[in-house]
Amino acid sequence: MKKVFSLIFCVILFSAFALALSSCGLFNKNEPKEHAHTLGEWFVSVAPTCAENGTQKRVCTSEGCTYYETKSIIATGHDLVSEKGVPNSCISIGWNDYEKCTKCSYSTYEEIPATGHVYNQDICRNCGQEHIHSYGDWYGDTATCSGTGLKYRKCVGCTHVESTPTPAIAHKVDGGVCTVCHEEVEQEDNGDDIVLPPEIFEE
Ligand SMILES: [Zn+2]
Ligand SMILES: [Zn+2]
Ligand SMILES: [Zn+2]
Ligand SMILES: [Zn+2]
Ligand SMILES: [Zn+2]
Repeated sequence: MKKVFSLIFCVILFSAFALALSSCGLFNKNEPKEHAHTLGEWFVSVAPTCAENGTQKRVCTSEGCTYYETKSIIATGHDLVSEKGVPNSCISIGWNDYEKCTKCSYSTYEEIPATGHVYNQDICRNCGQEHIHSYGDWYGDTATCSGTGLKYRKCVGCTHVESTPTPAIAHKVDGGVCTVCHEEVEQEDNGDDIVLPPEIFEE
C-alpha cells in the first residue's frame, strides 16, 4: 500500500512540474498568446513596375510574432515618349512613328524591311540606281554532237538571264559510227575513238 501511495505521489509531483514548466512558457515558445499586434511602418516588399502592381507590407514588432499585413501598390504605368518614323528604302529598313517607355523596354516600334530595288530597264524605278548585272556560273549547255547550242547564266541581283551560243561537242566514235547520234564519222588518223572537242568557246 505504501508503494502505491508513493507511485501516485510521484505522478502528482511530475504533473505539477510539467504544469509549472508550461506556464513559464518553455513548452509553448513558438506560440505566443494572443495580443494586440504592434504594427510597424509600411514598407515596399515588391516594387511596382510600369505594368504590374507591387506589394507593401507591415509586420508585428512583438518578439516571436509572425503576423503581417500586405496591400498592393498600383502599377506606375509607362512613361511614354514619341519617336519619329524613318521611311524604308530599297536598301535600308524603316519604321513608323512609335512610342517607347523611358522606364522599361515597352515599345510600339515595328521594323519595316527594305524593299529591294525594283528594276525597269536596268534602272531602279524607286531610287534610280542603275543595275549592273552580276552573273553566276554558266549552266544548261544545249550543244550536241550534231549541232551547236546555247548556255545560260543568271544575274544574282535580278531576274535577267543571259545566253550565248556554244559549239557542237565531239562525236563519240566507235567503229566509224557515233554512239550518240549514230552518224558515220571519219576516223582520225591517230586512231582515237574520241574526236577531241574544239577549243573552249570564248565567252
Ligand atoms: Zn503580433
Ligand atoms: Zn514602362
Ligand atoms: Zn532602288
Ligand atoms: Zn541583274
Ligand atoms: Zn554524234
